[in-house]
Amino acid sequence: MNPTAAFDGLECVDCGATVDAAESHQCPACGGALDPTYEYDAIDLDRERLASRPFDSQWRYAELLPFARESAVTTAEGATPLVDCPDLADELGVGRVLIKDEARNPTGSVTDRGASVAVTAALEDGATDVALPSTGNGGQAAAAYAARAGLEAHAYLPSRSGFTNKAMVNVHGGDMNVVGGRFDDAAAAFEEGLAEHDDWYSLRSFDTPYRHEGAKTLFYELAEQLEWAVPDAICYPTGTGTGLVGLAKATREFRELGLIDETPALYAAQASGCAPIVDALEDGRDEHEPVDHPDTICGELEVPDPTASARVLEAIRETDGGAVATDDPDILEAAVRVAQTTGLELIPSAGAAASGAWELAERGAFDGDETVVIVNTGSGNKEADVLRSHLMSQGV
Ligand SMILES: [Zn+2]
Repeated sequence: MNPTAAFDGLECVDCGATVDAAESHQCPACGGALDPTYEYDAIDLDRERLASRPFDSQWRYAELLPFARESAVTTAEGATPLVDCPDLADELGVGRVLIKDEARNPTGSVTDRGASVAVTAALEDGATDVALPSTGNGGQAAAAYAARAGLEAHAYLPSRSGFTNKAMVNVHGGDMNVVGGRFDDAAAAFEEGLAEHDDWYSLRSFDTPYRHEGAKTLFYELAEQLEWAVPDAICYPTGTGTGLVGLAKATREFRELGLIDETPALYAAQASGCAPIVDALEDGRDEHEPVDHPDTICGELEVPDPTASARVLEAIRETDGGAVATDDPDILEAAVRVAQTTGLELIPSAGAAASGAWELAERGAFDGDETVVIVNTGSGNKEADVLRSHLMSQGV
């Protein structure tokens, strides 16, 4: 292991047991999920020190990651632009709308951040093979970073995943398992594979403590890009919830380090056809209930049984945020509208964050001077066919 100075090991999110990071990915006491912990007092990071570093990759925040930059498996992910969209601000009736454009990552999605950290962990652990189920982008990212690290990647994607995701797993030399059906079917096939291979290292969201850890860096960048003015609201397309869990932790850490005082309200954006987080929040529950018949065009959002829902709901509640679901036609319309007014290319799932922001505005969630950030979790041209077919359905 080549840990960073302040990295303290892993802690169980259910029972609080501390675990040696080199030993396990699951709590030996209760089987719960683990989360990296740090000695924040030992981290010497201030605004000036950060400003003196090139804005070149997420590893510029290595003090707040488990592994040193020198040992990172990285292709300079992160350091993505934050693009001002004044026309959208006018439409929403808020002060500023900015799009954090994760499409600019090496494999075209936000999942590169977590894949970089988690594959680094796998390599440090001496793994030869990594494996995961994925809605699509995560599988592509894992295959890319495994290729760079010289590891074998076993990706399980549902047949409905986008062509680009499946093709690029192959192109990176990964073992591509296309599973008939939807995400839960892919997850079941992955579990069978994992049970048959005790040398596979799981990269499934929240099995590994390191994918949501990588997701933290998006918020660090936002704070710096806004010159330390914390946005009022962040709309994040939410499937498994790694993004929101990472963002909430990042806000706690920057407050702990004295870098910020305020917390942004975190909003989960989902599709009406699969909105377990929205349903749980509306019903006042601490966990989701699985969606029986998930059905949305947004593949990344079609996660009917998000195992870490309690942590996602906690992230929303502790930041005074919310959750919003919109219909597929509205989601696609929002993605097209953003493309036509800002020039940016949203992946259909990120259209849910845009249409969710519109929905929140209509409900009166904003009062006129807010700064709202919409996270574009992936590149629109990964699913250009879906966006184009929406236009054709409109007779264009
Ligand atoms: Zn435990």
